[in-house]
Order: sequence, then C-alpha cells, then structure tokens
Amino acid sequence: MENKFGFTLLSVAEFENWITEQNVARTVLNIQEHHTWSPNYTHFKGNNHFELQKGMQDFHTVVNGWQDIGQHFSIFPDGKIVTGRGLEISPACIYGFNNESICIENVGNFDNGGDTMTPEQRDAIVRVTAALCRRFRVPVNSSRIVYHHWFDLNTGARTNGSGVTKTCPGTHFFGGNKVKDAEQNFLPLVQKAVGNMDQVPLPLLYYAYVKVKWLPVRRKPFFLGKKINETPFGSVLRIYEEKGKWRRISATKDEWVNAGKIKKLKRGTVNTDELNVRSGPGIQFNPPIGVVRKGQEIFVFAESGNWVKIGIDERWVSAKFVDF
Ligand SMILES: [Zn+2]
Repeated sequence: MENKFGFTLLSVAEFENWITEQNVARTVLNIQEHHTWSPNYTHFKGNNHFELQKGMQDFHTVVNGWQDIGQHFSIFPDGKIVTGRGLEISPACIYGFNNESICIENVGNFDNGGDTMTPEQRDAIVRVTAALCRRFRVPVNSSRIVYHHWFDLNTGARTNGSGVTKTCPGTHFFGGNKVKDAEQNFLPLVQKAVGNMDQVPLPLLYYAYVKVKWLPVRRKPFFLGKKINETPFGSVLRIYEEKGKWRRISATKDEWVNAGKIKKLKRGTVNTDELNVRSGPGIQFNPPIGVVRKGQEIFVFAESGNWVKIGIDERWVSAKFVDF
C-alpha cells in the first residue's frame, strides 16, 4: 500500500483485506460501474495512478464544483485500485442514484473502438465488485449492481438505457452496457467471485438516519468508548442491537452510536412502474422532479397525509404506490 495526495494505492489482494477492515456506518445497498472515458489507456504510464486520480479530483472539485472526487474507487489498467471519496459520503456519479451507493470508476474508454481491457483490469473489476458485495452484503443482481447507462441524465430515473443517457461504462464493457449484457457476462463472474456470503450473526432490527451534522461511532456503548469513525447528517444506518441509550450499527463489529442522535426510518419498495417524485407532499407540486421505478427501495424520512418524504431533501412520493 502506498499513499499520496490523500489517496491509497492497493493491489486487488490488498483491497480485499483492506475493505473488511473499514468502519463504514453508512448503509450501502448498491454498487455502480463506470468508465472514465478520459483519462483512458493512452494517459496511463504504468506508474502515474496518483497523478491521474489527482487530475480527476481537481476536475471534479475545481471545474464541477463538487466537494471531492466523485468516485470511491478507480481501477487502473494494471489492476491496481486507488481510493477516492470517503466511504461515509455518497458518491457524485449517477444523478438520482447516489444515495446508499458505492461508485467504481474503471480507468479507460470501453466504448466500441476504444481501449481493449487488460486481463488484469478485468480481474480487478470483478474481484473488487465481489469484495464490496461481501463487505456490504449486496446481492448480485442488476437491481443492486448498476451501470450508469441505465439512468436518464436529466430525470435520474432508471430507464435501462432509453432517454438521455451516457454509454458509460462503455458499449464494450464486459461485452456490452445493456442490462442483459450485465446479467449474461458480468454478474455471473461477480457471483462466482463472491462465493457463499457468510451468515449474518445478528438480525437487522430497523433502519435509522443521522440527525446531527457528524455522528461519532464508538467501539463501546458509552461516551468514553473509543471514537472509531463518524458519519454525516442524513446517512442511513442499520440497527442490530439496543443497549440503553446506545444502538449497535454493525452485525459483525462493536460499533455503537447514541440513540438520541438518530431517527428510525421506515423502508419500502415502489410497487408501480413509474412513480413521480415531487418537491412537496401533493400533486400540486408540479411538475415532478424525478421518477422512481418499480422494485426500487426507498426510506421514509417524514410523512404528511398520504405522502412520504424519501430523502433528507424535499423529495416526496405518494405512499399509495409503496409497499411497506
Ligand atoms: Zn459514468
């Protein structure tokens, strides 16, 4: 492992170990696959991982005005991985689908006629995705492991490739960028690499979100317990155990937060093909600001009549079309 500019460079084997040791309070439900398009293989000189990552960070912060580099990880043509945005923060990679996601940018241009993916990078993409699935218990399917191409750039709705979309992660990424390409060519490799997920030692009790700007995560359920992490406002946490005023947020590790700083969330699933998202609780909030699709999981941050708020920002849907 090497560090530079605040990033860490890892081999796949190092990554597989490293990710199991990270304390991550934020709930991770989804994994996104992208290609960088530029930089591409012509920019990679074999030893300039950090410089290319820094270039992307500068572009995202200076040109785009984002708080940090958009992605959590970049995977390079030699199969090495460089860390990016902190795992506690949602990525800036797919408009409408960043919450509860981890974003992987695969360095290269994988459109037809672009770069030919090296075997090392191919292996790393599969194994990194699988390691994330194991770490966050993400089931291997096309609802939870997604390509950028499947989301409309203007509405954030999942369209599976129709509407205004990017080709990302490339028309030649593991044989194509469509849902069926992923299901036929990519996801089976990931599933094989995941193997059998271990049993969860503790059942999940409920979800809750962070009400304060930064919530300390402690090793023991009391204020003097060593602070091992902190997680920002709005993060969705999983609660596995209650002990007095403390809540355990990991099924496998001693990670505790103060109960007074979180609020319980209902979780639901969209039961209609397309459900309009509005800026307030009612159809008078027109036009809609987005769409969520059948099967998508949502969290309820507030309720008003028959409407539910599905983010910390003002995003509301009719509760009639959500199964709880
Ligand atoms: Zn993308």
